[in-house]
Amino acid sequence: MTAFQGNIQPIELAHSVQQALGEHLLSCYPHEACGILLGAAAAGGMRIETYVPLRNVAPDPLHAFIPDPRDWVGALYLEPGPIGLFHSHPKSAPNPSLADLRGLPALGPEFLVYLIGSLGRNTNIPLVNGYHIDRRRDSNGKLSLRLVQAPIHALLK
Ligand SMILES: [Zn+2]
Repeated sequence: MTAFQGNIQPIELAHSVQQALGEHLLSCYPHEACGILLGAAAAGGMRIETYVPLRNVAPDPLHAFIPDPRDWVGALYLEPGPIGLFHSHPKSAPNPSLADLRGLPALGPEFLVYLIGSLGRNTNIPLVNGYHIDRRRDSNGKLSLRLVQAPIHALLK
């Protein structure tokens, strides 16, 4: 995926969002944290303005996440609108899992960004990988989705 990096628009994270992601990831540990990212497509990239933590109601929250449906529906109507999804991998690298890829079709077309957080090896410092959700139709009209890694720009305020 890194071969695409040169042409890929960055994902900009507001300072408050960087902090909120890290705090939520740590407070849920060792369970997976999940939440919705609010923001908008900006000139030159995607800008994430707000993070809305959601409760994880997965039966096995150590290895999976299912956002609480009530939290989820509420978050869909916030302003600015939802633009992405965040979740954490408490014990593994912040790379998309097979389950993550299988879950992509459940996200509405307003979801353009996918962030995965993790803890650095031997540290308590959160790491976040960012991806664009790329939707394409093949010649048969079948929709396919993939995640394309994007650089994250941490805004200072
Ligand atoms: Zn995952």
